[in-house]
Amino acid sequence: MRIVVIGAGYAGTFAANRLARKLKSAEITVVNPRPDFVERVRLHQQLAGTATAAAPLASMLRDGITSHVGTVDKIGNGSVVLDHGESVDFDYAFLAVGSTARPMRGTVPVGTWEGAEQARVALAALPAGGTVTVVGGGPTGIETAAEVAGVRPDVRVRLVGSPVAGCFSDGARRRARAGLERLRVDIVDDDVTEVAAGAGRFDGTVHLRSGTAFASDLTLWAIVAGVPDLAARSGLAVDPEGRAIVDECLRSVTDERIFAVGDCAAVPGARFACQSAEPQAAHAADTLVRLVEGREPEPYSLRYLAVCVSVGRRDAVVQFARRDDTLRRAYLGGRTAAVLKEVACRGARFGARTGTGV
Ligand SMILES: Cc1cc2nc3c(=O)[nH]c(=O)nc-3n(C[C@H](O)[C@H](O)[C@H](O)COP(=O)(O)OP(=O)(O)OC[C@H]3O[C@@H](n4cnc5c(N)ncnc54)[C@H](O)[C@@H]3O)c2cc1C
Repeated sequence: MRIVVIGAGYAGTFAANRLARKLKSAEITVVNPRPDFVERVRLHQQLAGTATAAAPLASMLRDGITSHVGTVDKIGNGSVVLDHGESVDFDYAFLAVGSTARPMRGTVPVGTWEGAEQARVALAALPAGGTVTVVGGGPTGIETAAEVAGVRPDVRVRLVGSPVAGCFSDGARRRARAGLERLRVDIVDDDVTEVAAGAGRFDGTVHLRSGTAFASDLTLWAIVAGVPDLAARSGLAVDPEGRAIVDECLRSVTDERIFAVGDCAAVPGARFACQSAEPQAAHAADTLVRLVEGREPEPYSLRYLAVCVSVGRRDAVVQFARRDDTLRRAYLGGRTAAVLKEVACRGARFGARTGTGV
């Protein structure tokens, strides 16, 4: 049996390793645009220089899995066509191309490897007294602003979102904002409407919905939104955001041979998170094993634990959630939360490398 996994992020790598462990005779091919596994949850650390977010893909995949460096251009009838023209046939495919960022003009995206690298270079070149604006009041914005403020106390960091830390309930939100303030991040509860280019490569004037404007030497776009258009381009049914519509077993409703997992799958109630990607990858891989063994597949169900957001290296907020991702009131802050968040990041990487743990 030939299985092609499209995208080697958390979902794709997890699925490939689980399948290799459970279906010993399958020929598994992973296609990814670069020869590295990008630990996306550490991209804000990559740009601040507190961690390296890339590891050789070979170190993440079990022996026997073939990897191709390339971008899938189209999924056809039982085959994928790569950007350089080569095609790979499959009996089953796993679509795991993740999500992307749609940065406003004049900003640098944090949520892609290329953007994080560009931001790292620009931040390193920023002189003392410069200003960094982070756009996005959600987890990625909070983590980015805090990480930058932690390593560059000599620059002014503003975090703009409407509102900042709105992903938490009241108590946890106050705790996250207090942590940002301790790192001297200026919190601006507003929307950015435009970034007008300045004279240099990265500077500009940030305009807010309230009518305020301020100068910024580097403006980071910390909002992850949208998915690659591969599913739509290949004629698979997609939702209005372009995510592949799946049945209850995470198979494309257009083509049962194609499983869609992670950020690129339209799973009701799921948010962009490793906490979604890896359980989905596990479920889809197990569904294929069941089908091969002639057993009935089972429906997928959500299983969330918490919203975990780092606030620099020594602080974090972990707000507990019910299985369906509705928030509980209980939350943790401070050092214990920072340790839990680090354990979650390491756990996600371990899960991807072994195809276990969820
Ligand atoms: C700064 C930051 C911090 C985050 N922190 C957290 C956190 O603390 N907890 C959490 O749960 N989530 C966090 N997230 C979200 C999390 O990273 C994503 O939800 C997760 O990466 C989704 O996994 P995935 O496998 O679906 O996609 P990805 O990890 O994005 O992997 C997709 C892969 O597919 C590849 N690909 C794309 N198009 C193609 C193509 N056409 N052909 C072949 N390959 C392709 C990509 O290059 C990539 O390697 C964070 C995100 C960011 C940006």
